[in-house]
Amino acid sequence: MARTGKPAGRAARRRDARAARDAPLDLDGLRARVARAAIPGPADRAERARRLLSAWIGTAAAHGASLRDIVRGLGNGSAAEQLRGALETEISRNPPPVLRDAACRAGCAFCCILDGPDGGTITEVEARRMHGALAPLAGRPDGRDWHPAACPALDPETRTCRAYDERPGLCRAYLSSDAEACRINAEGGAAPGAGLLSTHPDALAVHGLARAALRGVVRVETFALARLNAAALEGRDVDAALDAARHPPKMLDEALRGLVSSAAAARRR
Ligand code: SF4
Ligand code: SF4
Repeated sequence: MARTGKPAGRAARRRDARAARDAPLDLDGLRARVARAAIPGPADRAERARRLLSAWIGTAAAHGASLRDIVRGLGNGSAAEQLRGALETEISRNPPPVLRDAACRAGCAFCCILDGPDGGTITEVEARRMHGALAPLAGRPDGRDWHPAACPALDPETRTCRAYDERPGLCRAYLSSDAEACRINAEGGAAPGAGLLSTHPDALAVHGLARAALRGVVRVETFALARLNAAALEGRDVDAALDAARHPPKMLDEALRGLVSSAAAARRR
């Protein structure tokens, strides 16, 4: 008996997708993978990430980057980071009220009291840079000497970030119009005023899309900020620190589902 058209269509699509995935990768193949890739979270964020990622690949290729370098940049988070930097520059040219009214200042560190041992999602390039900044400080008192749930990168005396220039996109995006609200939230409350600029969700969406596009080609990973920092400050070398902080794949999906931007109550993901 003839099959109905629908299941046959689905099977054909699956076959086509498998064939496309298994084909040797070239630039057009990479672009096609990005065009088909899917990530959890809002559809408009995914489409914005797709446009950004496609533009990044086109620019890199136009500047003579090899396919190998492009794939490496997608995989280790360089692409997401460069795009985040461009978004930050764009926002700083015309700062929204949430940025203009931010109460953030040095020594105000309630946002560095983390809501769990993970501390939030970072990419490989961010993890390596944090390790480079913190490794020379191994063995010294750290943020946990001020507050047991504080980020280890924090200076317990000055309550400033000891890796400020190298801090990841997550930390750069977090801000608040009300430091008292941050204090309340750090104690488990849910006061309004704190939130994330869209730069972090957008960068993470780019990274998630890169991972989906490169499935079966290279492993695209994420890491736990607090675990990475703790391992660096325990004196572990960079590979051991990455091992200690490596996320299971589902963590990026969970972060993409949970991320909110703007001044809504935000949690570190
Ligand atoms: S986010 Fe909150 S705790 Fe962090 S610096 Fe800004 S006002 Fe202070
Ligand atoms: S890395 Fe720095 S800014 Fe980010 S949570 Fe840790 S101490 Fe705070």
